[in-house]
Amino acid sequence: MIKVAKFGGSSVADASQFQKVRSIVKADEDRRFVVVSAAGKRHGGDNKITDLLLLVNAHVQYGVDCTSLLATIEERYVEIAAELGLSFPVSEEFAKIVEKIETATPEYVVSRGEWLTGQLMAEYLGMPFVDAADVIVFHHDGNVDMERTQTRLREAVLYNGGTFLLPGFYGATVDGQIKLFKRGGGDITGAILARCIDAGLYENWTDVSGFLAADPRIVDNPRGIHRITFEEMRELSYMGASVLQEEAIFPVREVNIPIQIKNTNAPDDFGTIIRETANKHTREHLITGIAGKKDFVGIYVQRAHMSNEVGCVRRALSILENYNVSVEHIPTGVDSFAIVVNGDDVKDTIYAIVSDIQRELKPDSINVLPGLSLISVVGRNMSRRVGTSGQIFGALGQAGINIRMITQSSQEISIIMGVQNEDFEHAIRVIYERFGDAVVVSD
Ligand code: ASP
Repeated sequence: MIKVAKFGGSSVADASQFQKVRSIVKADEDRRFVVVSAAGKRHGGDNKITDLLLLVNAHVQYGVDCTSLLATIEERYVEIAAELGLSFPVSEEFAKIVEKIETATPEYVVSRGEWLTGQLMAEYLGMPFVDAADVIVFHHDGNVDMERTQTRLREAVLYNGGTFLLPGFYGATVDGQIKLFKRGGGDITGAILARCIDAGLYENWTDVSGFLAADPRIVDNPRGIHRITFEEMRELSYMGASVLQEEAIFPVREVNIPIQIKNTNAPDDFGTIIRETANKHTREHLITGIAGKKDFVGIYVQRAHMSNEVGCVRRALSILENYNVSVEHIPTGVDSFAIVVNGDDVKDTIYAIVSDIQRELKPDSINVLPGLSLISVVGRNMSRRVGTSGQIFGALGQAGINIRMITQSSQEISIIMGVQNEDFEHAIRVIYERFGDAVVVSD
């Protein structure tokens, strides 16, 4: 099986991290394709090279001298090369980059973080270096030209004898103009490579052992999630449990290549495997994970006999559209409905929105409930299992937590509840303690 192994910034932050990467790559001969991010933070107060390069651009833009900033960046690479005894001429190459800084595009400057990290890692691993500018082809609008990219990547596979290292995060248009993915976009490069060369597995190496069933800042020692579907991951990531660049799932999901999140600092941990459908196991967790976010706002609208009227909800929604506010949930009752939106999105406009709804719908009452937290309990095994939601609500009730809103995703893989911000952490702990380890037995 061919594996693409992508290593994030913290996995390549210094020489000792490089050593870990080498032992991981050498431990499995299937790991023939490696993608790297730019060197990231070595410790809490440190800087990511990409951030420093963005800062260089800002200095250049405003004509401010950035000699010492450039020296800091160069130093990071000089240090890695020296400690590992690499022959790549860091200072010489860095000087060439510096020469171009005034005239090059900002994208070129930022991409050099991955380029330099890639050069050093390729030498250290003894793998050919393939420049992403030659194989990841962008349209001028910033989207990837998948057809050309696939052709070029496959040519690179043949040309380099079936193994190479590719820097992540950037590519270029056909006329050579460097383009970048969004921040964290090295994950996308890895996914595109895995797809274009028909890899059997896309490994994403980072500094955590995959997804956890709950936020460790709220729940002590939550269990790791070993298996998760793409859909479940979307639900959890949307609620803030993010490990992977969100867009990285699309290229591999379409062709059914699983992603495995692994920890460079604890390579024996299983991590999390993400695939389209989870293989059936006889004992599975009822709940895959819990995630949540604070500071939503609920707008509750009530009017007698509203249920008989056509178009009420649409009219309310079009008001939010006028204010360019995206709607999270719309729980409905017989003669009432609520609209839940992100608090930040309406902080300056909530009164105007309410008065527009008042004028347009003439409701009997309209209440705004700020400080609403949403908690999403996600689990493919909850679907069609009678009583799960009842048990969750019951547990919250016993703990004295008032649920302000309930919705369920249409596939029944998640139950979303709204509670007051003050109850947020407590509610998550209650749900985790009762159901975090619960298993279901299937036949
Ligand atoms: N170096 C880039 C960033 O910091 C891309 C990546 O790390 O994947 O966003």
